[in-house]
Amino acid sequence: DALTKHYPLPKMKLLEKRQFVQAVNEISFEIAEGEIFGLVGESGCGKSTTGQMLVQLVKESQGSIYYRDQQINGISTTEMKALRRDLQIVFQDPSSSLNPKKTIGWLLEEPLIIHGYTNKTTRKEIVIETLEQVGLGSDYLKRYPHELSGGQKQRVGIAAALVLKPRFIVIDEAVSALDVSVQSQILNLLLELRSKLGLTYLFISHDLNVVQYISDRVGVMYLGRLVEVFDVDHSVNGPLHPYTKALFSAIPDVKSTRERMVLKGDVPNPLSVPDGCPFHPRCPLAIDKCSKERPALRTIAPHHAVSCHLIEEGDFLS
Ligand code: SF4
Ligand code: MG
Repeated sequence: DALTKHYPLPKMKLLEKRQFVQAVNEISFEIAEGEIFGLVGESGCGKSTTGQMLVQLVKESQGSIYYRDQQINGISTTEMKALRRDLQIVFQDPSSSLNPKKTIGWLLEEPLIIHGYTNKTTRKEIVIETLEQVGLGSDYLKRYPHELSGGQKQRVGIAAALVLKPRFIVIDEAVSALDVSVQSQILNLLLELRSKLGLTYLFISHDLNVVQYISDRVGVMYLGRLVEVFDVDHSVNGPLHPYTKALFSAIPDVKSTRERMVLKGDVPNPLSVPDGCPFHPRCPLAIDKCSKERPALRTIAPHHAVSCHLIEEGDFLS
């Protein structure tokens, strides 16, 4: 079912009723095993909330989440603990998720203890094997997070997600804080781990370049909704939604002669999502209908779905 997440705002004295921010609204997608599904959009569009709902770190307000045919929202804590091994997350800032007082060895061993690996030798073997998988060796066991570079810390963050041998990992802005050269090393490591270990990722970033580089399919989010989903290699048209095009034209590209589409205004306040197409106040192509009717996310060609009134089947925007 389509997922919806409302965040109740902290109660304020003068508010008569609680207001809700719609972080994610009726979005629906599937990720195939072994696939990398990228989610892109400006900050506050609901990407992280979506990722955290998928691994049940936050609870959805409405909707269903299935993992390998099993509905996982609403299951018991014990059942979720078992599933936690399969479903992991890597965050943007490893410094805040890695306890500074613990050694890398301990940080990687702890989840194994929690998940019932009672044999110390086995745990140590798994920790070293995992460190090697992320390009670090056993000499990192006794080091502390502050002794590592940003890239090394993110490798440890990835190792912490890998140590329980998951199948699905949400990767949330995991390279955004890194220098470009370190970014590409981490992206290539993630690609290598995907094929070596048969992993599936939801890869979240505000950076369309990065998302296109690593993903098989890309979902573009705007104000809590999916506005376009396209297959990076198999969609014949390339991205078509005016918002996606605006994201692309924001990418500096010296070779390009295409006209830049400049976004007017800021991302609107999620408290007041516009009627009709949520993008219409900023869309340079908006027509009358756009402020009244909300366009559905429609499949317009194989491997390609778009939510825009101007894009009818077979009639693409150039
Ligand atoms: Fe722009 Fe209208 Fe398409 Fe929305 S539906 S993206 S406002 S043209
Ligand atoms: Mg985020």
